[in-house]
Amino acid sequence: QTPLLDIAGLKTHFHTREGTVRAVDGVSFTVPRGKIVCVVGESGCGKSMTARSVLGLVDEPGRIEAGTIHWHPSSREHPVDLAALDPTGPELRAVRGGEIAMVFQEPMAALSPMYSIGDQLTEAIRLHLPLGRAAARERAVHLLRKVGIPRPEERMDAYSFQLSGGMCQRAMIAIALACDPALLIADEPTTALDVTTQARIIDLLRELQADTGMSVLFITHDLGVVAEIADEVVVMYLGRVAEQGPVDAIFHDPQHPYTRALLGSVPRMGAGTGQRLTTIPGNVPHPSERPAGCPFHPRCDRARPGLCDTAEPPEVPTAPDRRVRCVLHAPRTEGAPA
Ligand code: SF4
Ligand code: MG
Repeated sequence: QTPLLDIAGLKTHFHTREGTVRAVDGVSFTVPRGKIVCVVGESGCGKSMTARSVLGLVDEPGRIEAGTIHWHPSSREHPVDLAALDPTGPELRAVRGGEIAMVFQEPMAALSPMYSIGDQLTEAIRLHLPLGRAAARERAVHLLRKVGIPRPEERMDAYSFQLSGGMCQRAMIAIALACDPALLIADEPTTALDVTTQARIIDLLRELQADTGMSVLFITHDLGVVAEIADEVVVMYLGRVAEQGPVDAIFHDPQHPYTRALLGSVPRMGAGTGQRLTTIPGNVPHPSERPAGCPFHPRCDRARPGLCDTAEPPEVPTAPDRRVRCVLHAPRTEGAPA
């Protein structure tokens, strides 16, 4: 069985007057059917741009330079390479918002203040289903109930500015679900919300995933959120995948020093809000100033001078379902001294 989404060797670059920014630079991972895959990393790691590449939403002067994005929902007999489609063409437009739905960070901004929640939802439904007004409205109320909006009949007439951030995000999720997507891409959907609301939205997304069988590609900088929602984890750093694997493996046996450092910087319960136990020294360099060799070497506590700062290690499997890009896990040559 092919995966639902198979990203291979994806490169999304921005050609600016100052030079080329390799925002996504050789990224490969898959989204299996019915699973939640979290892409995690600090700001500037290319996680959002990876998601935008899938959707054909890369803004000028950026473009996909290389790689494939094979998309294979059960409604299609053969997979289609989304990277090969015209980003502004009708084919990709039909996939976007039809087979693949999106939820972003700012629900208030994504909803129109001019139309009621019910009107926006009903319109989204009628765009995808051949339903009359009354039937579409009925389905809208059903969807609002499904995303946990209380008294959905009344909320149909509400405007986004009359709702809390959490309620707006629920409404956005309802709109995303209107087309029965095979994949939901959620880019930091809880980042703008308070912690309690964040937890409720995470629970909701998990329930909806289990209920519908859709897959979710969840973009976040927050490992606490990853622990709550992910089946599979892809850790990105400066446009590359540092490490990927099942969530339990990543949390219990992180193999890349960057993953270890990220985990070390997660505030523990009871440590006080926002209090970090350790921090990763240094900042993420701008993607246009990627260090030679392993891009993490200036911040890595295991870096080997003369090795890590010259050659970039390849991404290698360390288990059937895990891959790591670090010299500490380079494949051992047969017969070489350990
Ligand atoms: Fe650290 Fe070297 Fe591994 Fe990069 S390759 S993460 S610098 S040990
Ligand atoms: Mg982002």
